[in-house]
Amino acid sequence: MEDLRRHLLWQEEAGGRVLMVDAAKQAAERSASLRSMMPPRGAAKATPEAAAAPASSATPPAARPLADPVRTAAPEAAPSPASPPRAAPPEPAPARTPAAPVGNGMLLDVPQRAPAYPGPLPGVVDGERPTLDQIRRELGDCRRCKLCSGRKNIVFGVGNPRAELVFVGEGPGENEDLQGVPFVGAAGELLTKMIQAMGFSRDDVYICNVVKCRPPGNRNPEPDEIAACEPFLRAQLLALQPKVIVALGKFAAQTLLRDSTPITRLRGNWREYQGVKLMPTFHPAYLLRSPAEKRKAWEDLQQVMKLFGKQPGSRT
Ligand code: SF4
Repeated sequence: MEDLRRHLLWQEEAGGRVLMVDAAKQAAERSASLRSMMPPRGAAKATPEAAAAPASSATPPAARPLADPVRTAAPEAAPSPASPPRAAPPEPAPARTPAAPVGNGMLLDVPQRAPAYPGPLPGVVDGERPTLDQIRRELGDCRRCKLCSGRKNIVFGVGNPRAELVFVGEGPGENEDLQGVPFVGAAGELLTKMIQAMGFSRDDVYICNVVKCRPPGNRNPEPDEIAACEPFLRAQLLALQPKVIVALGKFAAQTLLRDSTPITRLRGNWREYQGVKLMPTFHPAYLLRSPAEKRKAWEDLQQVMKLFGKQPGSRT
């Protein structure tokens, strides 16, 4: 019941009323369709397959395919997560590695690989995989960029050092700066709901940001600040070696993928980061400002859940 409650909570966050109405309509249509297929009263008993059919209609609404929101709502019409609206013509869809033929003649859609980082990574000695502790020690009382001057705490990261799922955000906000923990403010609450709706807890996953110190006034991190801090994020991912990275928002996705495609076009498409599957999606802070986009983020997270073999609301 607790899982179902959490799932419904997130579903409500993700525009659940729309989904519920939609689901009720679909259920009514399915029911009418099933009734039309059923034999009249007194006819022979239904087959086992027919008897099992209603059970499938009990599938949680959010697990069913949704109308393609990309087609129904032009992404450019929504406020950009981190940059002003652009007047430029629509950009092409993100490039993907061409489909690769396999032995039996099938074609596989191979996610486009992010280029390797050219510089050395902190904590890496003689090519050995570092530990999070080694990386944190090397970060020290970091003064590598100007964000050090206004911070109260370095927000390194939190969670399971053996996590299979890692969320990467942009940078600490006020609450995060005060507590030294990522995603603890309003956006953090939403991220926690998202994680729980996926069937994980915050203790199961690892959460960190592109920059570890708060940009003043919650402004966007600047290129020189990202460049100074990025090696620590990359070293963290090398230490964690997760199965999946969820890049939350433009800065996480574009930094890790070295791709300037807008997040509205990156989101929802699997990419590969150093052999790890990466799913770009919207940042929770953006979702708080643009609740209508939550449904798209939920679709992206469902792709991640599918990879872990999870159903909405499950804890297995
Ligand atoms: S943002 Fe990163 S590089 Fe800049 S001072 Fe903080 S820890 Fe150092």
